[in-house]
Amino acid sequence: MNIKDFKTLFTKALANTYPKTEIDSFFFLLMDEYLKLKRIDITLNPDFKIGDDKILILNEALTRLKAEEPIQYIFGHAEFYGYPFLVDQNTLIPRPETEELVEWILNEVKSLEQDKPLNILEIGTGTGCIPISLAKNLPNTSIYSIDVSKDALKIAKKNAALNKVNVHFIEADILQTETLPKKFDIIVSNPPYVRELEKAEIQNNVLQNEPHLALFVSDKKPLIFYDKIADLAKWNLTKNGLLFFEINQYLGKETVELLEEKGFTSIELRKDFSKNDRMIKATSN
Ligand code: GLN
Repeated sequence: MNIKDFKTLFTKALANTYPKTEIDSFFFLLMDEYLKLKRIDITLNPDFKIGDDKILILNEALTRLKAEEPIQYIFGHAEFYGYPFLVDQNTLIPRPETEELVEWILNEVKSLEQDKPLNILEIGTGTGCIPISLAKNLPNTSIYSIDVSKDALKIAKKNAALNKVNVHFIEADILQTETLPKKFDIIVSNPPYVRELEKAEIQNNVLQNEPHLALFVSDKKPLIFYDKIADLAKWNLTKNGLLFFEINQYLGKETVELLEEKGFTSIELRKDFSKNDRMIKATSN
């Protein structure tokens, strides 16, 4: 089958599931992933014949897309902050808003202008996208990362090796943790924060595929992780140490208030590229 005919078939098969722009973008991602063909190659060679072995692989991907499986799980990898990350159903797919949080941390570290090595703790490893991206950009730094999921940590360790950085991974439930290995200059977390009541807003492909353990919190205690992590940070951050959070867009005010109550200062709430309240920086004293 040639590319043009496959594209027609592909577009028709997904027409009831996704908007046309998304189908097009899936198609070009697939061509790149499995045939190493860029958009321009396809435009120039619409009659390029796809081999039968590749058609088999493409059809399998098509079936999974039709079942609303995220394309990153189909490929088994995603990109975050310009680095490759393996992903599977035990890890959340890294989000672009989290890249903005990493960017913020890196800018803050730059403006600290101190040459002593920093100690950073990250909570809720997932793929390891936050600690690994920080490690890539802060080579003179000791980075620890905690996750409750053994299966997520398996992937994160592979990702650290893939990106050739060293991160100290720890398997632990943060809600049950009372002591940390040392004092940290920076603590950062993107914990579960989507309330059960927000489930209706969550897209099918997320809801049916991504780990609920990494996403959801109860409606009654939506800030349970923030409360616990802020308490730990109070005792385990160095003087003027920084606490960074990715947050629920609807709970910006509540999260700021929680940090104020616990005595953090210079609290800054920032929006993401979609103009939603999405991240917070606070200082310990
Ligand atoms: N931003 C993610 C989402 O909307 C949620 C991440 C999280 O709960 N930490 O799917």
